[in-house]
This record gives sequence, structure tokens and C-alpha cells, in this order.
Amino acid sequence: MSKYIFVTGGVVSGLGKGITAASIAMLIKAQGYTVDIIKFDPYFNVDSLYLSPYQHGEVFVTDDGGEGDLVLGHYERFLDQDLSENSNITSGKIYLSVISREREGAYDGESVQVVPHITNEIKSALYRLNNPKTDVVVCEIGGVVGDIENHPYLEAIRQCRGELGKGNAVYIHVTYVPMIEMSGEHKTKPTQNSVKEMQNIGIQPDIIVCRSDYPLDDSSKKKLSMFCNVSRDCIIESVTTENLYRIPLRLQEQNFSDIALKKLKLEPREPKLDAWRDMCARAEKAEASKKHLKIALVGKYVEKATAYRSITDALTTAGLLKNKAVAITLVSSAEIETDPKKLDGYDGIVIAPGFGVRGFEGKIAAARYARENDVPCLMICLGAQAGIVEFARNVCTMTGAQSQEFDAETPYPVVGYVEPKMLKKGAFPSAITAGTYLSKIYASPSTRERHRHRFDFNVKYEPMFLKNGLVFSAHSPTGVPEAFEIPTNKFYIGTIYNPEYRSRLLGTHPLFEEFIKVLGNNKK
Ligand code: GLN
Repeated sequence: MSKYIFVTGGVVSGLGKGITAASIAMLIKAQGYTVDIIKFDPYFNVDSLYLSPYQHGEVFVTDDGGEGDLVLGHYERFLDQDLSENSNITSGKIYLSVISREREGAYDGESVQVVPHITNEIKSALYRLNNPKTDVVVCEIGGVVGDIENHPYLEAIRQCRGELGKGNAVYIHVTYVPMIEMSGEHKTKPTQNSVKEMQNIGIQPDIIVCRSDYPLDDSSKKKLSMFCNVSRDCIIESVTTENLYRIPLRLQEQNFSDIALKKLKLEPREPKLDAWRDMCARAEKAEASKKHLKIALVGKYVEKATAYRSITDALTTAGLLKNKAVAITLVSSAEIETDPKKLDGYDGIVIAPGFGVRGFEGKIAAARYARENDVPCLMICLGAQAGIVEFARNVCTMTGAQSQEFDAETPYPVVGYVEPKMLKKGAFPSAITAGTYLSKIYASPSTRERHRHRFDFNVKYEPMFLKNGLVFSAHSPTGVPEAFEIPTNKFYIGTIYNPEYRSRLLGTHPLFEEFIKVLGNNKK
């Protein structure tokens, strides 16, 4: 049977509750236990299919095609473990399932209510992860205690402790402890109130993680311990840090995972964190060197850095592996359309994925700039579609070439759809063509990458592109082209799939590693 750790939030949102959940899961895994993780999101979108990245940042895609919150990416990267569509459950999914069952007449004439029907549905999503192979399930509840939307989840996890038994469930509450600058004093009252609110619901937190911009003094910790009914060693501080990956180490310095394991009646062991520590040390060294590789990330969601979180993480961690710090600038594709010279001075260019026509011509202009100036360029999904349209128009002189997504009547549908026209999402195999740069990069005749797109490179134009110097270097099992390169350029690669979803912290990804290597060699 699995044991459960519930992570809730108090005071304000955006405190790094997701990183705390990812950290506790990672630290427990580092002690040799098997873990799983799930996040509940209290909004009514059934999944992230129609969610704009402006809302919650990037949509993360799992192997099985689940479309979830960007925190799933952090979870996968912290845990180095594949998650599934069951790892992110929204209120939309919960209610949809209850209402669909009501329509099938499954409730025997009962009135269908939040308690017990919605709470039971939440619990069954939780208990689905309960199996003999998983020692600990970490569950993060989105939102903050006191939110109307968040209440059914807190009620469900309150019931869990009774059902699972005391030694099988632990509650971690993540709160904010502000400092009043003028007096230099930490204020514990918001946390006290937030814990009281949890107690009103019937949950006594076992561990409190206090996010603060400055280290907490002992008297604040004592006060929190006394007023919140939590022993002093269970008040864990989480001081704001630039380097996200330092957080689990800092938490562990305060025995975070050992405390949680003891409460679950599991024996703490020495966590294996050497690789993690090494990564953090590299990050600090790379930052201190001040010799950053300058990368332009061309996309349309420039106001929201988290819209491309997996890409920026993949670049940063590939940099660490090569002992290079990267400085990523989000460049608006619309601006490149009118002035491609804005890309002058960058060591490399990444053209981002996306949906919708806005900014597409700017991505085409960026691809042209990179190709003509031989600036190393990695194009992903919509970015790669822009690369293909650019090559067709400007090298193969196919005037009016376009993606059918934006012009169904184009004379040259170089990006088109393969029937049935549906969103291809999740991991699929690709065969890599021998002798290409891509096959050298992957050092393998095949790969399995995650996709999220409707449109594909049109195989009809493959001979034409080849004649003009662009090679398709990977294909789906049915022969649809999935990656291209221009062998005469240093690094000019586009992929219809999203390699960033499979980049991990300690393993990274060959495409990103090679990209960084080329940038580094170029800069010498
Ligand atoms: N909009 C494009 C398509 O559906 C690209 C999607 C993407 O970049 N993920 O094919």
C-alpha cells in the first residue's frame, strides 16, 4: 500500500508549492523509495487543450498524450520519471466524470452533491495511484486554502487521513512569512491564520514550509511552532533563491524528507544527492564565469516567460552539462517580422512552437535570418513549420508557400495535414536517417519524442527540398517527415516534435546538448 503526502498552500499563491512538492518527492526518491506524484488544479478546464499559455504558462505533454500544467514538467525533471495523464487532474475532469455518470443513471436516484460525490471522485483519482510498487504518493492541491474552488479538495484529503490511517498520510502546508522592511521583522500572523483555516476544515498540518525572502530567526520559528501546533523541527524555511535546483538541497539541510518519512513510519536513509549537488555547483560556477551564451528565443508569448519553461530549462541544463551559462532573451516574433536585425549579436536562435497565425511571419523572418547568416538555429514544431515555409518561399521559389493551417488554398501546402486531421499528442517513434547530422546527434537509428501538433511537413515536397539542399532527417513509421536539417549550415535543425518535453535535469537531451556545444565552439 502507498503512503500519501499532501501539499497545500496558504496566504498567497505563487510561493513555489509545486517546487516544494517536486522537492519532497525527489528527496524521498533519492532515499531509495519509489514515488509517484499528482497535482489537482481547481479550475474547470478539463485539461490544457484550450488553455492559453498566458494563463498558467506552458502546456506540458506526457508520454501518453496527457496535456497538463507546466508543473508536470518540473515534476518529471525533478524526479527523472515519466508521468501520465493521471498525474494532473482538474475540477473540469472531476465534474465531467461525475456528471457523465449521473447521465448514465449511475447514482441510483440519489441527489448528486459536492460531498460525497465530488469528493469521492477526487479520492478515487488519488487512490488510483495506490499500488504495492509505489511507496509514497505526493499530492499537490492547486490554489490556496480559503479559495472557494479549492475546498472540495481539502475536504477530500481530510477524509483520506481517516481512511488511510494516521501513519499513512502527512500534510505539508506551504505559506508565506513576509518581512516588514522598516523594522526588519518577520510577520508570522498570515501563517497562523492560514493554519487556523486549515484546522477549521479539519486538517492539522504536520509540517509547515515557510517561504520567505530572508532567513527566519529562531524566535519567529518558535512562535510559528507554538501558534500552529507544530513541533519546532517541523517548521521548515524556504528562502527565495535564484537557483531553483538549490531548493531541495536547502530543504534537506533541515531534514525535510527525513521528518516526512518518520511521520509516515518509513525509515529515513542517506539520500543520494551527489549528481544533484554537482549540477548546482556547476550552475554557480557557470553563472560566476559571466561568459554567457546568448540565445534568442523567438516566440509570441514574450510577456510570459513560463510559456516556454521546458525549452528554457532544457537550454539551461544542457548548458550546465557543458559548463556554459546561457542567457535566454525572449524575442517577440512580431518585432522580427519588421526588423530581423534585432537578432544581431545572439550566439544562437531557437524558434518556438505555438498555435495561431499571429507572429508566424516573424518566425519565418527569424528562420531566414538564421539560415542566411548561418547562426545556429533550433526550430521546434510551429518554429520548424516556419522554417520549412521560409525555405520553400525563398530557396525553392515557391511563391505563396504556406501552412494549410493558415491558408487552405495555398499553391504550395508545404505544411499540411494528414488525415484524420486531429491533434497528434504524446510520444511516438521516429526513424532517423542514417548519415544525417541528426543521426550523429542521437547516435541511434530511432527515437521516441513527444508531439503536440495537427499539421505536418508535406512529404510530397521532399524531393524538391532535397534538390535544393534541405534534408529530412527523421520520419514517422508511415513515412511522414518529422525533422529536417541543412547540412551546409553549422546547426540548422527543425523538428515537428517537441524535444524539450523529454529533457531532464541530469540527463538533458542530445539535441539541446549539441546545440549548446555548437554555440560554445562558435563563441571561442
Ligand atoms: N499549430 C501547429 C500545428 O498544430 C504547431 C503546433 C505546435 O507548435 N505545437 O501543427
